[in-house]
Amino acid sequence: AAKKQGLGRYQFYQEALTQTVTDRLQLTAEIRQALVQQDFVIHYQPQYCHDNDKIVGAEALVRWRHADKGMIPPAEFIPVAEQSDLINELGIYVLKTACQQCLAWWKRGLPRFSLAVNLSVNQLRPGVAAEFQALLMEIGFPLANLELEVTESLIMKYEDLSELKALQALGIAIAMDDFGIGHSSLAQLKHLPISKLKIDRSFIKDIPAADNDMLIASTIISMGHSMGLKIVAEGVETAAQKSFLAEKGCDLLQGYLLSKPLPAEEFERLLLARQQA
Ligand code: C2E
Ligand code: MG
Ligand code: MG
Ligand code: MG
Repeated sequence: AAKKQGLGRYQFYQEALTQTVTDRLQLTAEIRQALVQQDFVIHYQPQYCHDNDKIVGAEALVRWRHADKGMIPPAEFIPVAEQSDLINELGIYVLKTACQQCLAWWKRGLPRFSLAVNLSVNQLRPGVAAEFQALLMEIGFPLANLELEVTESLIMKYEDLSELKALQALGIAIAMDDFGIGHSSLAQLKHLPISKLKIDRSFIKDIPAADNDMLIASTIISMGHSMGLKIVAEGVETAAQKSFLAEKGCDLLQGYLLSKPLPAEEFERLLLARQQA
């Protein structure tokens, strides 16, 4: 009976697995089509200087404007795109679109800031630095205004950091995203080509109730600073979190308290308001 049950269970899993593969293939095809139809849009979330509320950066965050399903968040399609070469196409699309958008703003005299674009580690294939350089030169985007965010867990898995180093050598800043949840020690950081740490939202969300999170956040800030790194806190949602982080000298703050990620038109209005202020 046990054997029969086991077999039944096996068939069940088989079915579930087949289902997943089919779903994934279908999603892959839909992403490919969405790229052609330009159904991906980019939202911009401002990053503020901790002491004067100046917008010093903006993170580009991709969304899929789906005809039937509405706005689909990146968590639902980036992992699928990462399983094939699609992530490279999508990554280039985001980089190009965001850079062109910012340049258009700056050409109209709107305040400049550093544009942060998320980079999937799968995009770190040989030649990517040269490819980005060519693309940015073609667009005319200043390399010093670009920052690439790479997650900690992924960077630690990746052994060959030559492309990341080449990107940094071009003058592009590299930020380590979601820092603190991976397995790197602060000591390992000095070997990495990075200039910024983004404290993961999980350490921010329970401030000021959680003493250990406050300790972790302030340790990341002070040790990061001693290594010459700039620190960003992501997911700042309350005034108490903001004042704690500002008091600890966290350089940049990003989160719903300050602003949600905004469609280009709304982000533009924010820049215009700043310009007039
Ligand atoms: P991430 O790079 O860590 O981006 C921050 C995420 O936190 C964003 O979610 C943002 O909307 C959200 N967030 C910002 N402030 C707050 C807050 O105060 N509270 C809360 N609860 N959330 C906040 P989003 O846009 O859904 O993006 C999720 C992830 O998808 C990103 O995490 C990033 O890893 C990935 N992603 C987004 N766009 C791209 C892209 O163009 N390329 C790649 N490779 N990955 C991307
Ligand atoms: Mg990010
Ligand atoms: Mg992050
Ligand atoms: Mg995150």
